[in-house]
Amino acid sequence: MWGIIATWRMAAEGVGKAAEILKNGGDAGDAIETAVKEVEDFPYYKSVGYGGLPNEEMEVELDAAYMDGDTLDIGAVAAIRDFANPVSIARRLSKEKVNNLLVGEGAEKFAHKEGFERKNMLTDRAKIHYRNRVKEITAQEIKPYAGHDTVGMVCLDEKGKMTSATSTSGLFMKKKGRVGDSPISGSGFYVDSKVGGASATGLGEDVMKGCVSYEIVRLMRDGLHPQEACEKAVAMFDRELKERRGQAGDMSLIAMNNKGEWGVATNIEGFSFAVATENQEPIVYLTKCVDGKCIHEPASQEWLDDYMRTRMAPLEEK
Ligand code: ASP
Repeated sequence: MWGIIATWRMAAEGVGKAAEILKNGGDAGDAIETAVKEVEDFPYYKSVGYGGLPNEEMEVELDAAYMDGDTLDIGAVAAIRDFANPVSIARRLSKEKVNNLLVGEGAEKFAHKEGFERKNMLTDRAKIHYRNRVKEITAQEIKPYAGHDTVGMVCLDEKGKMTSATSTSGLFMKKKGRVGDSPISGSGFYVDSKVGGASATGLGEDVMKGCVSYEIVRLMRDGLHPQEACEKAVAMFDRELKERRGQAGDMSLIAMNNKGEWGVATNIEGFSFAVATENQEPIVYLTKCVDGKCIHEPASQEWLDDYMRTRMAPLEEK
């Protein structure tokens, strides 16, 4: 059995490419890296890679991670600027004995020495978003840019190897140096080939409070189906945050176990995700969770068309 699941509609093309690799007996590491790179390279997704939205100093600082569920190797970069594919640098770092998580300048030096592609990641479109936002920002709290955020994935290959990876520009208008959950093991991602993996998108500051990806893997290890594990972890932690702090940030989790069964849960409206397995052609679903129970419905063609149209619509300076 093989499979791959990923946060948000934006992952669909990448999931399709990964499915081709996995179908032909390819490796879960290669498949997931290919899938994430596809999202990083697409200029119209404004929360991952090229075209990602900048921090308050108008710099695009990117976070990414890669984990191998066989060896438990982890590599990650945070607040890295001007490299095309942070996920590939993260994967490369996962092969080191030490120095597995590098930030800022150190990450950039490493990537440069290793010959990774340099690229100015700030697009003209992102600059317009930035300038528009500066005009709007008066007295507003910073939130992840609505609608599409971190790409997080879990992948299983035919040999039973599992991987997980994330990539994000984090919060729009974040402080320079701010790092969220996405490059942090157990929070933005976790995978163990003996059990399964999970990955998150949402408000990193809150996801990190509950190590939610690890919690889902732990529940799967206890025997829960990925769907039950996601529902339980998200509902419990959402409630916990609301009880203790009065509110809970956005939180959407995807998971897959080592049988290729998968699950998704969210505390927001309109969370989309993409999945493909040996028994399931690549498909985009929309999820709705009420009282801790989630229903996934295939996205309609109209929704899919509209999604692309809005992403690529001409952008006006306000
Ligand atoms: N989790 C990301 C962060 O906090 C953003 C997101 O997925 O919405 O950096």
